[in-house]
Amino acid sequence: MTEFTKTLCPYCGVGCGLEVSPPAQPNKATNRDSKGNPIWRVRGNKAHPSSQGMVCVKGATIAESLDKNRLHYPMVRDSLDQEFRRVSWDEAFDLITKQIQTVRCTQGAEALCVYGSGQFQTEDYYIAQKLFKGCLGTNNFDANSRLCMSSAVAGYIQSFGSDGPPCCYEDLELTDCAFLIGTNTAECHPIVFNRLEKYHRKNRKVKMIVVDPRRTPTAEAADLHLAIRPGTDIDLLNGIAHLLMHWGYIDPLFIDDCTSNFPAYAEVIRHYSPEVVARQCEISIEDLETAARYWGESQRVLSLWSMGVNQSSEGTAKVRTIINLHLMTGQVGKPGAGPFSLTGQPNAMGGREAGGLAHLLPGYRVVTNPQHRAEIEDFWGLERGQISPNPGLTAWDMITGLETGDVGLLWIAATNPAVSMPDLERTKKALLRSPFTIYQDAYYPTETSAYAHVLLPAAQWGEKTGVMTNSERMVTLCQAFRQPPREAKADWEIFAEVGRRLGFTKEFAFANSAEVYAEFVQLTSDRPCNMTGISHELLQSQGATQWPCPEESSTSATLSDQKAGGETKRLYTDLRFPTSDGRARFGAYYSKGLAEPPDPNYPFVLTTGRLYGHWHTQTRTGRIEKIRSMHPEPFIEIHSRDAANLGIIDNQLVQVRSRRGNANFPAKVTKAIAPGTVFVPMHWGALWAKDAEANTLTHPESCPDSLQPELKACAVQLIPV
Ligand code: SF4
Repeated sequence: MTEFTKTLCPYCGVGCGLEVSPPAQPNKATNRDSKGNPIWRVRGNKAHPSSQGMVCVKGATIAESLDKNRLHYPMVRDSLDQEFRRVSWDEAFDLITKQIQTVRCTQGAEALCVYGSGQFQTEDYYIAQKLFKGCLGTNNFDANSRLCMSSAVAGYIQSFGSDGPPCCYEDLELTDCAFLIGTNTAECHPIVFNRLEKYHRKNRKVKMIVVDPRRTPTAEAADLHLAIRPGTDIDLLNGIAHLLMHWGYIDPLFIDDCTSNFPAYAEVIRHYSPEVVARQCEISIEDLETAARYWGESQRVLSLWSMGVNQSSEGTAKVRTIINLHLMTGQVGKPGAGPFSLTGQPNAMGGREAGGLAHLLPGYRVVTNPQHRAEIEDFWGLERGQISPNPGLTAWDMITGLETGDVGLLWIAATNPAVSMPDLERTKKALLRSPFTIYQDAYYPTETSAYAHVLLPAAQWGEKTGVMTNSERMVTLCQAFRQPPREAKADWEIFAEVGRRLGFTKEFAFANSAEVYAEFVQLTSDRPCNMTGISHELLQSQGATQWPCPEESSTSATLSDQKAGGETKRLYTDLRFPTSDGRARFGAYYSKGLAEPPDPNYPFVLTTGRLYGHWHTQTRTGRIEKIRSMHPEPFIEIHSRDAANLGIIDNQLVQVRSRRGNANFPAKVTKAIAPGTVFVPMHWGALWAKDAEANTLTHPESCPDSLQPELKACAVQLIPV
């Protein structure tokens, strides 16, 4: 009988369960790739509660990327104009530890930086936090999640007192009204959308509202599509609140008993009359009223959002303004309702749990809290005061730190900033100035490997066993089913070995990733993300498990109970929140709009986004034929009226200019985008398409609370070529 290994799809935050088996007849030519490597068979895991056997094209084809363009050996070079030369792990580790010691002595620990990834397993994240934030005393560990969902983290913390999406995927099939804002769920979180759309199709009374300047496949399925002007999300949300208040669709008991700061919020929304909001958002008053009526008349409202909300210079305010609507109508802590942020990466949630952003510590703690630091210091056996009280450098701070010379060593792992960072030309120039860059990745070459002094080959999906948490707090064991190729190692093993060579032998004496995870979960005890009941062993024997899962309840939180009708876990069902007074807080925000609004010189708003088949910067999906043929090249979507005014026809090359750089794309003339707005997918870096890098155009202006850059919008001019 065929043996299937249970694991998780390593692409998006939906976190679909997969099963993998070796090819049935490995010697048959059709079961091998062009280099003779066996192609593993992948199918959806029907028993996984999040995905129930479904997968999208990315998950279905993931195994095809396993042996393509892999980095097999450590390599080094003295300067960026030299060729890499192969070295042993021993030499690479020696070089890295010496460099860390030198930078620490000459510039201090604050000159050491790590830029990690939501592709990490939780064990990778945890060991990196222990090494850098604990043993080395710098909080300069940030992850690409900073570009993805840090506004959701800040919004949840400020409104509820803690991070953590309170909802479950089951809510998709229990809601009366799904309110999707800033998310093209159909393309970016396909299996979440499949569940929602199927339910919506069967239940015609259920309403779906989609807020997006583009008529995306998600918007196509909606009862109401609000194509607002980019940057007017807060106007819209406050306008809906204004109407709910005016029509009496609010829950005064919930507001009185469970929230604080409502009067300040009520004062703000007073100014958002339908006339003002319709004008600002460029939608009709009728559509605005329909949205408010759908929300107000529903017993259970579920809002979903993603990058369209988070990647904004007012991202945290937007998140809180969504949450405000739930608080004023009592739509939280019950089935089918709540504010649900969809995570981009497969384990950005695990990163949050393990403290994998520059202001966080493991167990949903923050570096600025003296008690939190003391708890971690005691647990790690460090002297009090060892952990810095200052938040570390964020992803963008590391780029500016390279410009000023404050960064002495940059360690990039499992991410590709030479494509994904804003203001790409500036980013690349800064990377060229780095005195010492370590690049740890499974693939080679990538756009970022061109900026590295040391390359470290990392094991990837299927080659290491570890844990990931998806958007609904479901924790899954991703089991290895094959050996890492040649000399590749798991990320956590690499960090741990560097730790031991720096003299922290006791701190990093782990025999395997199960031991790492067992240590990490102890730091979640009595925390909102309590996972003390979860272990590799439990996940292996009982399947994916949702947190909170304290030790004493681990047997009642498992998949087998859920299948038997046990309750899926939502947060805040007792309507108490982890704030100092137990109340959720309203945030009162006026809309500020875009950081870089259009003007006569740059009259269009460029918005960037993702396509169904590709994942981020294509390090995997660009090497999968089926996906490449679905999305062969980048393009720019432009409204037919704008195209006619500029004399642009379909497929014509258009030069797009912003204040930071230029890029060229063939035009896709369409009515599916609002006039005045254009769209470009962000997946193409210099390796795949010359002069068509979306982030050459974007800017790094960030939300003051989450420090997440506004990758979603900038002002551009269009020149037909
Ligand atoms: Fe993977 Fe996301 Fe597709 Fe699921 S929806 S198969 S997690 S890419």
